[in-house]
Amino acid sequence: MALVNERFGRQIAIFGIQGQEKIQATRVVLVGYGGLGTFVLPQLCLLGVKHLTVVEHETFSATNRNRYMGFLHSDFDTVKGIGVDKVLVAERIAKGIDPEIDIKLIKNKLESREAFDAIMTADIVVGCLDSDGARSVLNELCIAYGVTYIDLASEVFGDGTFGGRVAIVKDGNGCLHCMGDGLDQTEVRRYLADDTQLENEAKVYGVEKDSLAIDSGPSVVDLNGIIASLGVQEFKLLITDPKNCSRYLNYRGHLKAISKVQVNESSNCYCCSLHNKKEEANIARYLGIKGKPP
Ligand SMILES: [Zn+2]
Repeated sequence: MALVNERFGRQIAIFGIQGQEKIQATRVVLVGYGGLGTFVLPQLCLLGVKHLTVVEHETFSATNRNRYMGFLHSDFDTVKGIGVDKVLVAERIAKGIDPEIDIKLIKNKLESREAFDAIMTADIVVGCLDSDGARSVLNELCIAYGVTYIDLASEVFGDGTFGGRVAIVKDGNGCLHCMGDGLDQTEVRRYLADDTQLENEAKVYGVEKDSLAIDSGPSVVDLNGIIASLGVQEFKLLITDPKNCSRYLNYRGHLKAISKVQVNESSNCYCCSLHNKKEEANIARYLGIKGKPP
């Protein structure tokens, strides 16, 4: 314990040894190791998180290189045009900070059996996704299994405004659908649609099916760092000082303003009504929807 105290002494001075022990006992699942996730993971490890699962199916790509904290030039082969598995970098960073961390890597999509199993049995899930469709699935899964979900989002808009938010989904009294600005329902519907449904929709609009795909928007390192740190701040408070934890923080970067958004905890929300319903909520229907068998 003396060594632990030496390593964490500066923060034990803030939230006490009990706070430190709670952080170390918390089972955390990080979903998405991209622009936001690469800032979140090292901070969780530095705080002393000991039980961490990372869900990420992609490899490091050329366009990721402007904002992924901890990735090296050598993680992308510019000649072959291929990068390393992102989860392997997550492991390198986590073990570099704490060689004894219990880290599990899931190189699979969110809608996979192994990701679902890890999320259902977590204490806290941190979502670092770039799609409202995936957010909607994770939102429902966490509510159905009573898992606290911290969702992070950053966005740069075409008119020069930019910002993001941190939302905490817990206790079945406020979720991503009913808090703040909600989720983009067109994006959610298209994410959940199968090929035939997308083809039908494309016909209705008289466009190519591929044009309905959700493009990844602009993204920049400093904005991700701000949102990730706000998320880790709320993660820390949730565990060590819950009364000072916020349910919804809105960051408007162009105005240099962070505001706490009041959450209506008694909304009549269908998703919130699935709280702790477990198998009855039938979240398993989402398994494999994104083209990979569960
Ligand atoms: Zn809700």
